[in-house]
Amino acid sequence: MDEQLIAPCGMNCRLCIAYQAGLAGLNQKGFRKTTCPGCLPRGKHCLHMGDQCTQLATGQIRYCFQCASFPCRRLKMLDRRYRTKYHMSMIANLTWIRDRGMASFLEREAGIWRCSRCGGVICCHNGLCLNCDLQRLRQNKRYRWNETDNGA
Ligand SMILES: [Zn+2]
Repeated sequence: MDEQLIAPCGMNCRLCIAYQAGLAGLNQKGFRKTTCPGCLPRGKHCLHMGDQCTQLATGQIRYCFQCASFPCRRLKMLDRRYRTKYHMSMIANLTWIRDRGMASFLEREAGIWRCSRCGGVICCHNGLCLNCDLQRLRQNKRYRWNETDNGA
């Protein structure tokens, strides 16, 4: 886990399908996935929040918890979507980083998202390890977390 992959909104880009698709070379294996090196590495202050937040867009703050409005309405909406569909919470992540530090957070993330079979990193967007579960993704390119959530 890498601090540079922790976006201002609390997203861990290491878990993102666009990051993992690039890392795993999915487009060389017959997939057509958008790839991304991570919000900060690609020069976007924050994909989720930066377009509507001046403080983030201009790089005045590194993390949303440094803002007086934390957690703002937009972050709460994003957080609810990710809690519901992707088994993670931006606000919980940010609160952990603020209160316990980045090293502790990165260690915790590595434990939570570790693939029990190969030691790789599970993707938060589909619940799969792109080493071990590629066949499942091949059979259903829109596969997501056993499809237990109601789509959309
Ligand atoms: Zn694995």
